[in-house]
Amino acid sequence: MTDTPSLVRRTPWPESASRPVGTPIQPSVVYASPDPDTLDAQYDGQVAGYTYAREGHPNADVLARKIDAMEGAEGGIVLGSGMAAVTAVLMGVCKAGDHVLGGDQIYGRSLRLMREDLPRLSVATSVADPTDAAAFEAAIRPETRLILLEVVSNPTLRVADIAGIAALAKARGILLAIDNTFTTPRGFQPFAHGADIVIHSVTKILAGHSDATLGYVAARDPGLRKAIYDFAVTTGMTASPFDCWLAERGLYSFELRYDRAEQNAVALAAHLAGLPGITRVLYPTRADHPDHNRAINLLGTRGGHMVSFEIAGGREAANRLTRAAPNIAFAPTLGDIGTTLSHPASSSHRGLGAEGRAALGISEGFFRVSVGVEDIGLLCREFETAIAASQRR
Ligand SMILES: *Cc1c(COP(=O)(O)O)cnc(C)c1O
Repeated sequence: MTDTPSLVRRTPWPESASRPVGTPIQPSVVYASPDPDTLDAQYDGQVAGYTYAREGHPNADVLARKIDAMEGAEGGIVLGSGMAAVTAVLMGVCKAGDHVLGGDQIYGRSLRLMREDLPRLSVATSVADPTDAAAFEAAIRPETRLILLEVVSNPTLRVADIAGIAALAKARGILLAIDNTFTTPRGFQPFAHGADIVIHSVTKILAGHSDATLGYVAARDPGLRKAIYDFAVTTGMTASPFDCWLAERGLYSFELRYDRAEQNAVALAAHLAGLPGITRVLYPTRADHPDHNRAINLLGTRGGHMVSFEIAGGREAANRLTRAAPNIAFAPTLGDIGTTLSHPASSSHRGLGAEGRAALGISEGFFRVSVGVEDIGLLCREFETAIAASQRR
């Protein structure tokens, strides 16, 4: 009697002379090596090979190599979220006694990490206005180890003085980390502007379809990369292979989506500026933007896919606006293929309180639009209808 094959054992993958055109998904947690010598050689980096998915897997690497190519980076690491990437940088690099200096309008959870968590571990933190290099200079301390910036701020779209702050960091041997989520490598390449570390929330427009939560980090210096990688692996910040697969699929169309969304953003900003009931429109490359000159110098024509605006009439008018725009998702995210609308006073910036928001110019009538790739005529009509409805009481 011949043994029936055990159902418990894996059946070899069927052979095929032709290759799949699509990227495979590899969910395996472990990889079997032929013998201990080979395993040793893998761990020593002498032969290529995966061992355990928390330490790395093919779908994360396929995605990372693509983002590396856009950022001019080597050995970038894909992690389970944008916040995993921010955390791996700050905690993988800093030690007790160090000081971290951040932009005062960086992503809310990055600010929280700086305000609540790092001080518990005896890493001091503070923030300064990144549009003002002199304010940054004044905030630098002898123990400042790292500066964390975003190029374009959320939601008022202020443009940081990257050149000024990068020069300060370089002169003092301080690491410069730039979260490039808003600008994307299509709009801005931090390594070409003096950054030591680049961070992304891949969740946003890189993946682009609001169905994968992922982050990315790359460091110019291999020692720095290793410190960040080891912290991420030890603390289990691993990305899901399926999410990586979705994000890589999203990247096939990233350039097309970004360019179209940006064109739409320019046109929508111009249209909004002419509508009754609109009190302010913010878009970095517009002539009326407070950082217009810096935006042009830093970004050229690449103003990005985010537009902010303010309507008259406060919270009541804001409620009427979102109700009158049922096809534009009112959701606190950005970078989706479709246009989404967020209201910072009730979401991302609610924790600041009315006074804190007023200092940044965020009123109850303030909205941020993540512009999508829809037909621009349709978008302009939808916004026009919603804004008109917001002004009728
Ligand atoms: C969304 C976002 C993050 C956090 O990314 P997650 O993937 O949501 O964890 C960090 N920085 C910026 C600028 C973001 O927009």
